[in-house]
Amino acid sequence: MEVNFLPIVSLREINLSEEQTRVLVIAAHPDDEVLGCGGAMALHRDRGDEVKLLIACEGESLRYGEAGVGQHGHIEAAAAALGVNDWSLLGFNDQTLDTTPQTAIIDALMRATEGYEPNVVYCQSGEDVNSDHLALFRAALVAFRPTAESVRSFLTWYTASSTDWAFPRTFTPDTWVDISEAIDRKIEAMACYESEVRAYPHPRSLESIRAQAQFWGTQACLPFAEVFRTVRRVELPTCAD
Ligand SMILES: [Zn+2]
Repeated sequence: MEVNFLPIVSLREINLSEEQTRVLVIAAHPDDEVLGCGGAMALHRDRGDEVKLLIACEGESLRYGEAGVGQHGHIEAAAAALGVNDWSLLGFNDQTLDTTPQTAIIDALMRATEGYEPNVVYCQSGEDVNSDHLALFRAALVAFRPTAESVRSFLTWYTASSTDWAFPRTFTPDTWVDISEAIDRKIEAMACYESEVRAYPHPRSLESIRAQAQFWGTQACLPFAEVFRTVRRVELPTCAD
């Protein structure tokens, strides 16, 4: 029998450690990190974990022209709402990752995380309709393959208006994180992305994001949850006294 249902509802189980954890969040565009794991990021910061956020594309030029919409300010404000101050852009152009050599994306990920040695990696899903998401996921899969010994958990997230718009819709959550303590901060962070928020009932409306978290939560008898699909979890044996 295939077993693919592995509910995990506390960060401790994701961290696999009581100790402070180095968390790495890899997003394709500004706002993906909030949609996917904004609640988890806030909770990691609450427990004293380090959180490094990397955003691959600047997410402005293609849709908003050279003048942009002030996305840097939005990123800064959204990160601050989640208690995160370590963020950086990898400098790729929006909607170009699928035509960028994969090695260039891998190199950028490796350079940006040199010396960081993350224990937990959160990344876009490779099951999304957006081709940047897929390209970034595939690069992260290589950059943080099992030779990256520090990585104990590698999880992919659900992005509203991308994972739900793919076909076939193959994203199957196996991890539910209780974000009841952080749902308001997730919504506050998303509200910072003025150019990305849409009116209800668009999936990127604030009402929909809250409702989605509530829906995911009820699957695990939680008020609000974020869901993830596990790429890899590594449990090391603990030494006996
Ligand atoms: Zn995106």
